[in-house]
Amino acid sequence: MTVNLPIYFDNNATTPLDKRVLEAMMPYLGADFGNAASKFHVFGRRAEAAVEKARCQVADLIGAKSEEIIFTSGATESDNLAIKGVAEMYREKGNHIITCMTEHKAVIDTCKYLETKGCRITWLKPDEYGRVTAEQVEGAITDRTILISLMAANNETGALHPVAEIGKVAKNHGVIFHSDATQAAGKMPVNVETMGIDLMSISAHKMYGPKGIGGLYVRRHGPRVRLAIQMHGGGHERGKRSGTLNVPGIVGMGTACDIAGSEMLKESGRIATLRDRLQEEILNGLNDVALNGHPTERLPNTVNLSFAYVEGESVVLSLANELAVSTGSACSSESLESSHVLMAMGVPEAMAHSSIRFSLGRFNTTDEVDYASERVVEVVRRRRKMSPVKELQEVFGVRGT
Ligand SMILES: *Cc1c(COP(=O)(O)O)cnc(C)c1O
Repeated sequence: MTVNLPIYFDNNATTPLDKRVLEAMMPYLGADFGNAASKFHVFGRRAEAAVEKARCQVADLIGAKSEEIIFTSGATESDNLAIKGVAEMYREKGNHIITCMTEHKAVIDTCKYLETKGCRITWLKPDEYGRVTAEQVEGAITDRTILISLMAANNETGALHPVAEIGKVAKNHGVIFHSDATQAAGKMPVNVETMGIDLMSISAHKMYGPKGIGGLYVRRHGPRVRLAIQMHGGGHERGKRSGTLNVPGIVGMGTACDIAGSEMLKESGRIATLRDRLQEEILNGLNDVALNGHPTERLPNTVNLSFAYVEGESVVLSLANELAVSTGSACSSESLESSHVLMAMGVPEAMAHSSIRFSLGRFNTTDEVDYASERVVEVVRRRRKMSPVKELQEVFGVRGT
């Protein structure tokens, strides 16, 4: 078995740049340096043509029209623009926003900010698998509701909400539907028409594109969604997001979307097979391991497991030279809080602290999966031997074996 260490299983945090993407970007970091807003010379026009081609590639991946794509600095900015933009624009109509406790911080913190500005936020609680139902969403709608913001796929567990059903509910009630599809886009088919999505956030660096570039889909027909501008300036991106365009980044994002679209079917099948193999090998080797997230309604690349009686952190640290994985989300592990996603799902605190997220990607191999599962099993067994299991059983709420 030949593997290069450390093995990268943290593709939900970021992905490596695909070499084909880098190649497509290179001219725009060199000779083709023009400003896409310079209409009167060939440098500008070449840049503009490259941007418009990329806009079509991004739109194609999500079933949108190119004029409905706004380039931003990433999904964090897209989430901010979508949510604040709607809250400010539709203030007369209402002040109520529906979202979920398991959203990414970019959505949660934006909604918390709006709460301080007089918005009322409904924080839906997911089921034990991390999902909400369309009925739950419908039950929360009032005549003051202006926005539903629910992610397509969760970054920590991979759990998928029934987005198309939620889209129908939103449409029936005339409420704008925003979805953070940063994790779903490129990993599974997403389509703004069939899913009934009016605003969609995506990011290039989660799909083998460069960091610092993302997009926001803004529906133009049925309904035409209007946004209060968050970045004032030169009127770029139809006035919705001023600032000189990041041409190499945009070209990279377009190419990344193009590759994802054409390879998704084959790639997601291959990655799901690897992910299932990893999950199986670990579950065969150890008792008292719980899956966090839905067994089937889940991204093909993600498996989040809680290893009773051990700290996720300590396992990850023991394997730091061999395996790159996350405990909870990157952000929550920095502050060493237990994951807000797992807590919302009702996972006991000790089990949340024992969780590890494995997120596979385009460049992982079967040998890497076999190596990683073997080492995880070894390290967890060793650490469990060191811990007074019987006393911990109560804390972890798991029966002993
Ligand atoms: C990574 C991520 C973001 C943030 O994207 P950036 O482009 O890094 O700002 C937002 N939402 C989800 C679901 C993510 O996974």
